[in-house]
Amino acid sequence: MEEFDLFADDVDDVNTIVKTQESLFDTEQRLGAMLDAMPIGLLFHTQQGILYANNQACSMLEAKKSELVGRHFLDYIRRAEFLDANSLLMEAFDATSDALEAESVIDGGKDPDKLIKITASRLPWEGTPVIQVLFQDITVQKRAEQSLRKLSITDELTGAFNRRHVFYEAEGYFDQTPPPPISVALLDVDHFKSINDTYGHAVGDAALKEITQLAHSFIPTIASCDSAMFARIGGEEFLFLLPGIEANEASKVADDFRRSLMRLRIPSEDNRLVALTASFGIAQYSTKDKNFDKLLSRADTALYEAKSNGRNQVVVAG
Ligand code: GH3
Ligand code: MG
Ligand code: MG
Repeated sequence: MEEFDLFADDVDDVNTIVKTQESLFDTEQRLGAMLDAMPIGLLFHTQQGILYANNQACSMLEAKKSELVGRHFLDYIRRAEFLDANSLLMEAFDATSDALEAESVIDGGKDPDKLIKITASRLPWEGTPVIQVLFQDITVQKRAEQSLRKLSITDELTGAFNRRHVFYEAEGYFDQTPPPPISVALLDVDHFKSINDTYGHAVGDAALKEITQLAHSFIPTIASCDSAMFARIGGEEFLFLLPGIEANEASKVADDFRRSLMRLRIPSEDNRLVALTASFGIAQYSTKDKNFDKLLSRADTALYEAKSNGRNQVVVAG
């Protein structure tokens, strides 16, 4: 009887062990399934290579789990980003606290590259150092951010920088002590109202676009100023911001552009070629200019003089 009881106890023990093992196995499976369901790439990585990759990591790196284990995450990173990604991983192996973040690029081979955000942190495990590498595709988000930024700094019709952006940039120069030499060339199209009235608003719009395109190809040819900007600051009013150059040099730049403008021809709907001219007011920053607005208003006075002197000319503010 006693023996039988002992046997019954053994059976109970075996049952308990089997149940524990089953539940451990279950837990491991559930954990694996949870990691695989994560919408973010996850790797456990030693200094030698990948120990574990979840499903999302496999799909982003376009490799099977069995292929990834033993490879190195850097094998999948675009060459140009290799050094930065490597230092992030090395730093993560050293760090014991905060997660480290960086942007990088997965080499897509024949497919498009993927811009990713990597978060790496060391796992609090004894023995061989292991880091957790999380990564997500931010290509679409980045593209959206870039186009939003472009929208916020450019004029919709012409693609020139907008008024807000050129003011922001100019005020950046003014904040420097002492501000570097800086000149502006304010440009206003002559008799633009009559271009609209004669050929139609669409031709007027086309003219504003052509003027901008001409300015964009003209800017790289300005040898004396390598950070010139062109912005539309009003209806048919534009501005060259010319950091690093003085008024007489800015006046030559404006005169070159004035001559180029005279060669421009905009086709009208009835196949006529429309010519145009513009007047320019130049002003150079002086210590009397308290802010960018003051500099602009001096350029505006010079522009007014150019208009009243007969247009199609450049006048430098006194
Ligand atoms: P001035 O030589 O004295 O500068 O004469 P102007 O006719 O150019 O000057 P005015 O200020 O009288 O007219 C500017 C015109 O520019 C009036 C306005 O309808 C036109 N305009 C402003 N913005 C736009 C635009 O986005 N597209 C078109 N097509 N015309 C515009
Ligand atoms: Mg005007
Ligand atoms: Mg005008």
